[in-house]
Amino acid sequence: MTLVCPECKNNIELADSTDLSVGSVLECNTCGITLEVGKIDNRKVSLEVIDEGK
Ligand SMILES: [Zn+2]
Repeated sequence: MTLVCPECKNNIELADSTDLSVGSVLECNTCGITLEVGKIDNRKVSLEVIDEGK
């Protein structure tokens, strides 16, 4: 599964072993912000920025 960072629009690669669920916290490797999974609807995942990092 690949997610798109809402901040920088780059893809966030997830390891196959990542157990993605509502409330999971991810970090964008490109811009460094911290994202939380807000909603999972079928294959569409909504991400919320919880820490803008640098
Ligand atoms: Zn980003």
